[in-house]
Amino acid sequence: MTKCNVCQNSIKQPVYVSTGNISITSLCQIYPEKTEVFFCENCGHLQTTEITNLEEYYDTIYKILIDSEEEDQLYKVIEGQKIFRIDHQVKVLLDKVSLPQHAKILDYGCAKSATLKKLGQTRPDIIPHLFDVSEMYIPFWANFVKPENWATYTIKPHWYGYFDLVTSFFALEHVANPKEMLKNISQLLKPGGLCYFVIPNVYTNPADFVVVDHVNHFSETSLKFLLKEEGFDSIDIDAESHAGAFVVVARHSDSDEQKSVLLDKQKVNLFQKKVNKMAVYWQNIAEKILVFEEQHTKNSASAIYGSGFYGTFIASCLKDIGKIECFIDRNPYLQGKLLLDKPIVDPQQISKNIDTIYVALNPATAVKSIEQIEFWKDCNFNYFYL
Ligand SMILES: [Zn+2]
Repeated sequence: MTKCNVCQNSIKQPVYVSTGNISITSLCQIYPEKTEVFFCENCGHLQTTEITNLEEYYDTIYKILIDSEEEDQLYKVIEGQKIFRIDHQVKVLLDKVSLPQHAKILDYGCAKSATLKKLGQTRPDIIPHLFDVSEMYIPFWANFVKPENWATYTIKPHWYGYFDLVTSFFALEHVANPKEMLKNISQLLKPGGLCYFVIPNVYTNPADFVVVDHVNHFSETSLKFLLKEEGFDSIDIDAESHAGAFVVVARHSDSDEQKSVLLDKQKVNLFQKKVNKMAVYWQNIAEKILVFEEQHTKNSASAIYGSGFYGTFIASCLKDIGKIECFIDRNPYLQGKLLLDKPIVDPQQISKNIDTIYVALNPATAVKSIEQIEFWKDCNFNYFYL
């Protein structure tokens, strides 16, 4: 029994419980607990039981992309051209929001806040402010924000009703109380100010379903409910501009009038069907990986293509990880590092004896991504697809 993080409805049973006692975090670390996922039939929200010591986890353990100033995630490769996530996020933000001159912007739950830093290069007039529940990113902040314009753990009193725009990139999915976060954001905005956030879309990025530290997996209905309840209007939920994610813009309403929020039950039912399908998919996938492994025990060596969440997931399912020589990834920031004690290498650098490749990419685009690797055109690998 649990309570919906969005509408407080009671949810009796999980739709998914992982088979083993192994879960994987968004930073590809193995976490020794089961993953439990619940669907709210009232508002269409999907949520995962939060990991223990959530506050301590974000304060000291969760370290996203802090190996270097430039480190970033690869967003897409288009005709051989690598596009990084931060560049894409800046482009979409500038396309969707018209920022006034000298706009006061707060990045809420900002980590390194690479997006705001980059935005400042295109729009040097903006005044960036930063907030997070950890102090470990301060060395990065000091490069582009004045110390009086950042805060850790507690909001500065003069920040209430102060901002033209509050941004949040991939943070709302991590918090146990999204209502509280949206309430805080609405109080920080000027009347008419905009809230802008990017969060994973589990319906186009199925891995999100089993990421153990993603407490919230929003749907269009649960997002609308949450935003309306916290006093936002002109809500725009965009599932196209960022692959696998929702880009959400909402305006802090200038009227205090409480509006009742109507839920689209037909849409909620549709999400429920999709969620049930995903639960079956993840329940069966471990078995599918094992069957393939069993059929290829006589091969010489294997590699896992993709050193992100899917790669860690496949590795955690294999009986004999000794057969895996390496992970393969096109992101130069990951090449040369280790994942589960295996090297991460460029597709061109794999050894000749590798004959089997586990493709650890979003199933929706995996085949296309592999076809794009010119260098592998004449290789006859045995491929495993999720
Ligand atoms: Zn709900």
